[in-house]
Amino acid sequence: MADPNSTFATAVNCMDGRVQESVTAFTRREFGVDYVDMVTEAGVVASISEGVRRHVAISVQAHDSKGVVVAAHPGCAGNPISDEEQKVQCVQAAALIASEHPGLSVIPVWARLDGAVEVLLTP
Ligand SMILES: [Zn+2]
Repeated sequence: MADPNSTFATAVNCMDGRVQESVTAFTRREFGVDYVDMVTEAGVVASISEGVRRHVAISVQAHDSKGVVVAAHPGCAGNPISDEEQKVQCVQAAALIASEHPGLSVIPVWARLDGAVEVLLTP
């Protein structure tokens, strides 16, 4: 049974196992929360699906999510395009999610395979 005072943030991430722990740790630290709700699809930033949007909304509404991290990573099997193109998509995906949740902080990140997580600058 979860502590009713538990705090949450949300991560929209690829399903790739290599970037689960690093993105979870980054999200927990960034928003100072106890738990991270993980919303995953292969190459999720390529196109934010209705399902992803619904899961983010549940995390925000039911768990009072403190913020959202949107992640992409190199060598993505689900989105086999260049790193630069993926980063553009990641920033756009974050902007879309932000537009649906005014006032919520949404941070696009690049999850490197060495475990480092870099914040992508928004234009
Ligand atoms: Zn991937």
